[in-house]
Amino acid sequence: MRIPTLLTTLRRHVHGFQVPLINQIMQEFGHDPYLILVACLLSLRARDVMTIHVCRELFGIVKTPDQVLALPLDKLEKIVYRTGYYKTKAKVLREVSSEIIHRFGGSVPSTYESIISIKWIGPKTANLVLGLGFGVPGICVDTHVHRISNRLGLIATKTVEETEQELKKILPQATWIDYNYLLVMWGQNVCGPISPKCSNCPLRALGCKRIGVKHSR
Ligand code: SF4
Repeated sequence: MRIPTLLTTLRRHVHGFQVPLINQIMQEFGHDPYLILVACLLSLRARDVMTIHVCRELFGIVKTPDQVLALPLDKLEKIVYRTGYYKTKAKVLREVSSEIIHRFGGSVPSTYESIISIKWIGPKTANLVLGLGFGVPGICVDTHVHRISNRLGLIATKTVEETEQELKKILPQATWIDYNYLLVMWGQNVCGPISPKCSNCPLRALGCKRIGVKHSR
C-alpha cells in the first residue's frame, strides 16, 4: 500500500467525523502544551465524551501548573471524578505540575527526553504533547494507531514501542503528527477493535491485508 495514497484517502473520508479529544481541546483552548498534557493524563482509561466535559470544567478554573497545585485536593478530585480513577488522576496532575514547576520553571519542556523524564508521562503522551503543543514531529502510538497499522499490513509488531520505531521507518516525517489524528478517527468510526466495517472501507480496495481480522461488517 502506498503511504501517500493511504493518507490522501483517509483525509478525504474523515470529513464529518468527530475530531479526537485532544484536537477538540486545542480548538477550544489553543495549542497550550500544559493543557494538552493534562487532557492526555485525564483521558487515560476514560471515554472522550466524558473527558472533554471534565477538561472544560477544570480549564474553566485552572490553566497552569501553579493553579493546579493551588487547588485544594478534594476539589480537584471532585472535578476529575467523572474520568474514573479520580484519586490517582488528581495525584498525578499535582505531581506532574509540581515537577514542571520545580524542574522546568513552570513550563512544559519542549524536548522528548525532558518530557519523558517527568514521572507518569509515557511515550504516547510525550509524542502527542511534542507534536501538537510544539510542532515537533513525533508519532503518537495509541491503541488505534497500533491496531490499524498492523491490520493494514504496513508493519508487523507486537508492542506500541515497536510500532513507533517501525512507523518512523516508513512514514515521511512531515506526516507523523497527522498520522495519529487520522488513525484515531478511523479507529473510532470505521476500523474499531471488534468487527471493523470492512465492507464499506475504502482502504480495502487500496490493499488492506486485514491482518488478524476474524469478524467484520
Ligand atoms: S478494510 Fe477493514 S481492517 Fe482494513 S482498514 Fe478498513 S475496516 Fe480496517
